[in-house]
Amino acid sequence: MTTTFADLTTMRVGGPIGRLYVPTTIPEAVDLLQRVAATADPLLVMGGGSNLVVGDVGWDGTVIKMATSEFDIDGELLTAAAGVEWDRVVAAAVDAGLAGLEALSGIPGLVGGTPVQNVGAFGTVTSDVLHSLSVYDRQTGQVERWTPDRCGFGSHRQSVFKHSDRWVVLEVTYRLRRGGQSGPIEYAELASRLGIAPGGTAAPSDVREAVLALRRGRAMVLDPDDHDTWSVGSFFINPVLPEVPDSARGCPRYPDVKGVKLTAAWLIERAGFPRGYGTEWGDGTVALSSRHTLAVTNRGGATTSEIMKFAAHIRAGVEARFGIRLNPECDLVNCSF
Ligand SMILES: Cc1cc2nc3c(=O)[nH]c(=O)nc-3n(C[C@H](O)[C@H](O)[C@H](O)COP(=O)(O)OP(=O)(O)OC[C@H]3O[C@@H](n4cnc5c(N)ncnc54)[C@H](O)[C@@H]3O)c2cc1C
Repeated sequence: MTTTFADLTTMRVGGPIGRLYVPTTIPEAVDLLQRVAATADPLLVMGGGSNLVVGDVGWDGTVIKMATSEFDIDGELLTAAAGVEWDRVVAAAVDAGLAGLEALSGIPGLVGGTPVQNVGAFGTVTSDVLHSLSVYDRQTGQVERWTPDRCGFGSHRQSVFKHSDRWVVLEVTYRLRRGGQSGPIEYAELASRLGIAPGGTAAPSDVREAVLALRRGRAMVLDPDDHDTWSVGSFFINPVLPEVPDSARGCPRYPDVKGVKLTAAWLIERAGFPRGYGTEWGDGTVALSSRHTLAVTNRGGATTSEIMKFAAHIRAGVEARFGIRLNPECDLVNCSF
C-alpha cells in the first residue's frame, strides 16, 4: 500500500509519496542525498511531520524521512542525529543532570527540525543552546560543520533553513550546563506552577514535569486519541510588524529585531474565533483546538484542502477586523491558502 503524508504527519492529512526512504544512520542519509542529487527527482526531507502540511496531491518525488539515530553526551555537549526524537533528547539531558533543554520538553518532532524554525517554548529557543551542527549542502554535495551564526536566527521563528531546501540538517550539538538549576524562568504561568517567582530557577527535572503538565493542558503533547493534538501546534505565526496598528492596541506584544511581535491567538480570538470554533463549520472535520486558539485541528477525516479553506477563513476574519495578515508557521508543501 502507498504511504501517504496522512500516515506520517501529525495533522494526518496529505496525499501519496512517490518514493520514501528512511535512513537510520548519518552515512546512509548522506549516501541517499548524493544518490538523489544525481537524479532529477524532486526531494523533500522530513522529520516527525509535526510542522508540515502537504497537499492532497502528495509529493511525486523522493521523500527522505530522517530516522538517523546517532547520539552522544560528552561533558556538557549533547550531540544527536537529525532523526532522533526531540523529547527523548530532552529526557536524556535531564536524566544526565544537564540543564538547558528542560523548557523545550514535550515538543513533537525530531532533532533536525529544531534549528529549522528555531523551535522554542516557555522563553527558551533552540539558538540559546545551539553549539554547532552538521549540514549537507545540496548545491555542493558537501557535509559542512556550522556554528550558529550561519543559521540566520533573529526574528521570531526564522532561519536560513526555513525558506530554502539547500541545506539538510544531519546532526546537532547543544551546549548544556552540568549540575544545578534551570535558567531563569520568566514565563509567569510556568513560574507559578513551579511555586517560584518569575525570574527564579528550579531543578531541570521539576521544570520538565511542570512544562509537560502545562503542555498537556493545552493539547500540545501528541496523543493519538485526542483530536485537539491532530495539528501542527501553532498553525499561524505570531505576526511581527514595524509598529502596532491602532486596531490592535490591546494586543499583547513582545520586542523583536524586526519591530513588534503580536500574539496571533489574541487576534484570532478577538476576531470572533474562540477555542473550538469550527465544529459547525463545513462538515465538521476541521476546527480550532478546544484548548489552544492557534491550533487548527483535524477532527477526523479532514483533507488538506479542507484545512486550507478553514485557515483562509480564519485569516480573512483577522484581516477584516485588524488589517493584519496572518501567515502560516508550518511548512505548506503543494498546498496554500
Ligand atoms: C502538538 C504540537 C505542539 C507543538 N509545539 C511547539 C512548540 O511549543 N514550539 C515550537 O517551536 N514548535 C512546536 N510545534 C511544531 C513542531 O513540533 C516543531 O516545529 C518541530 O521542530 C518540527 O520537527 P519535525 O521533525 O516534526 O519537522 P517536520 O514537520 O518533519 O518538518 C518541518 C520542516 O522542517 C524541514 N526539515 C525537517 N527535518 C529537516 C532536516 N533534517 N534538515 C532540513 N530540513 C528539515 C522540513 O522539510 C519541513 O520544511 C508543535 C507541533 C505540534 C503538533
